[in-house]
Amino acid sequence: MSIERAAELLARAHRGVALTGAGISAESGIPTFRGAGGLWTQYDPVKVASIDAFMEDPKAYWSVARERGPAVLAAAPNPGHYALAGLEQSGNLVAVVTQNTDGLHQEAGSVRVIELHGSGRSVECLDCGTREARRDVQERLEFQMPPRCRICGGMFLKPTVVLFGEAMPAGAVAEATALAEGADLMLVVGSSLVVYPAADIPLVAVRAGAPLIVVNAEPTPLDRLAEIVIHGQAGAVLPELAYRAINRAGG
Ligand code: NAD
Ligand code: ZN
Repeated sequence: MSIERAAELLARAHRGVALTGAGISAESGIPTFRGAGGLWTQYDPVKVASIDAFMEDPKAYWSVARERGPAVLAAAPNPGHYALAGLEQSGNLVAVVTQNTDGLHQEAGSVRVIELHGSGRSVECLDCGTREARRDVQERLEFQMPPRCRICGGMFLKPTVVLFGEAMPAGAVAEATALAEGADLMLVVGSSLVVYPAADIPLVAVRAGAPLIVVNAEPTPLDRLAEIVIHGQAGAVLPELAYRAINRAGG
């Protein structure tokens, strides 16, 4: 059975790295971008989530954020997030590299989390650099559009996420690449593996000789390089995988 074989590989790993995408948070109630029910079926990303669109019309950006924000802010980790935290604690995984901006890995207890696309939990004023919690800005959206900076009144309050057209944080990319180079196992969860350079991370690990495990609802372009592909829901598959790996590792 593929889950048993995957657990065996995980139990043997000491420097495993997980790469996660929007799919791991789908069961927490946060819609993915691509895939069935994805947000891109409702919004055009270039019109809403690009840096150019934001600079031109921050109000349009915040109108979408006003609708989408409450679900993201209320979301809690699901068993998939907890299973990855458990596999770090057991010494099989060393880090989670994530494309998500929801902060749910940290909330579930993962210690080393590398956020390739930044964090949606805070907001930064592009005029004076002041940061504040996204949660506080969300409350202001009811009476102030677009929201203004508390310190300088600036109109460009940007979530500390990487928008389309922005560079990824170089430090995070370098750290993720180094981890992949040294990995003895790569576990991809809930990513369509079409957003680069995030999708390069598992390639780096495979080239360095690490076995690849893919857990995703749908096929991905890297499935053909994987030792094991499990098509399923992260919140069901990961706890079973972690349970088998950890109980095996523990003897
Ligand atoms: P993605 O490229 O990571 O694709 C999501 C994949 O997850 C799809 O292939 C889908 O089949 C799969 N999936 C859906 N539900 C699943 C489940 N329960 N278990 C396992 N797999 C499941 O992500 P995307 O949606 O294409 O978005 C790309 C970028 O958008 C991300 O890299 C991120 O920066 C941003 N984003 C972040 C969040 C978040 O923070 N939670 C949500 C949406 C989008
Ligand atoms: Zn300011």
